[in-house]
Amino acid sequence: PSLWSGKNITVAGLGVSGISAARALAGLGARVTVVDGGDSPLLRERAAGLEAAGITVRLGDAETLPEGTELVVTSPGWKPSSPLFAAAEAAGVDVVGDVEIAWRLRGESGRKPAAWLAVTGTNGKTTTVQMLASILRAAGLRTRAVGNIGTPIVDVVLGDEEYDVLAVELSSYQLHWAPSVRAHSAAVLNLAPDHLDWHGSMKAYAADKGRIYEGNQVACVYNAADPATEHLVRQADVEEGCRAIGFTLGAPGPSMLGVVEGILVDRAFVEDRLTTAQELAEVADVKPAAPHNVANALAAAALARAFGVEPAAVRDGLRAFRPDAHRIAHVADVAGVAYVDDSKATNTHAAEASLAAYESIVWIAGGLAKGATFDTLVTKAAKRLRGVVLIGADRALIAEALARHAPDVPVVDLDRTDTGAMAAAVREAARLAGPGDTVLMAPACASMDMFTDYNKRGEAFAEAVRDLAGQESGGG
Ligand code: ADP
Repeated sequence: PSLWSGKNITVAGLGVSGISAARALAGLGARVTVVDGGDSPLLRERAAGLEAAGITVRLGDAETLPEGTELVVTSPGWKPSSPLFAAAEAAGVDVVGDVEIAWRLRGESGRKPAAWLAVTGTNGKTTTVQMLASILRAAGLRTRAVGNIGTPIVDVVLGDEEYDVLAVELSSYQLHWAPSVRAHSAAVLNLAPDHLDWHGSMKAYAADKGRIYEGNQVACVYNAADPATEHLVRQADVEEGCRAIGFTLGAPGPSMLGVVEGILVDRAFVEDRLTTAQELAEVADVKPAAPHNVANALAAAALARAFGVEPAAVRDGLRAFRPDAHRIAHVADVAGVAYVDDSKATNTHAAEASLAAYESIVWIAGGLAKGATFDTLVTKAAKRLRGVVLIGADRALIAEALARHAPDVPVVDLDRTDTGAMAAAVREAARLAGPGDTVLMAPACASMDMFTDYNKRGEAFAEAVRDLAGQESGGG
């Protein structure tokens, strides 16, 4: 009988990860209740599916803790301040997330559990775990990118497929609710204000990110250009012998990975760190070879090297990697203007990276600011902005920052939050742009005020650009 049989577990949220956790736990014999504050036809349909599997579902009440609950499993989006968690705390009941459940279940399949190489950071997580998985695959290892990406992690851990090592993307939310996860090695890519409305403060956000280093066995990988990440390593309680490994876009010191004359080099996992630099790959092997993305590649390489991967596999894995959609994707050139979709730039730090990659930009921005301020971003980008088109709920915050720091840049404030606004924004941007310019949709905001997610926002942009290209070639 498993540890879980007969245990009373309450799952918060009838979404993808909640359903996966509920089914997995019920499958191990737990008595599971799923609670959700909503009560819609869609939720009732999902509830019916779970009830058929012997799972209890309670709709329309997200606040009271079901009688007899011994453990609460959260879903992304539920704030730590949710009344259900306060009720759990008052009752002395632990609250954990799906990643914690996956970690605790990883022995249940009866196989040797895969090692976890974990990645967090404000930006670049998905790209980095995908690069890492590509490198591990090139090394002949059975692996998969999981976590805040694709198939729920619980399903992967309990599934039929066997893995040597997992490339695990962890959001700050997931880390907040995953107290006992212990990675083989982990990286924090960067740390900038994001999701502060959820975490309450920058300090709490950083503390959640720092959890990823706790108990690391071999390497804690940090960004040498971002002292906050190194600070988190110093605070972490790690296994004996675990090393701090930095990455830098410049020449690396001992115990670091870096770049020398266009070559990614390793001075951390070599015989003699004082005199040797092992060549791993060329900068040109990284796609796209923008600076922030080279940093992602170095972090992925560091984790792979910590796991014992040979240099040639790092190169082959980076060459085989293809970036996902909506991440600095070139959509088309129309009348000498390049149109670029970086819908995944959902915060100011990400938008800053892509704005730094172009010279003369018409910027499409706006959406949900999530508590962010825009002064730093606008100050850094001001010189390269040829024009700005604003859409979305919190566009006034960006308009104010532009008025303060870039008063001469023409701004078109569309005052729209409907889905058609993107097409209008593209038309306005086309008017502002001239040959050689880039129209960059890197909104620095979340998309949910206008779209279901950043994918839909990116698709709306690409469609509008294709319409524009059609008019251009058709109408003359
Ligand atoms: P995440 O999974 O952390 O959201 P992604 O890999 O999906 O990160 O990239 C999100 C966006 O962040 C990209 O569209 C790009 O604009 C930006 N970005 C990627 N890597 C970095 C980085 N290392 N530093 C800053 N911005 C980055």
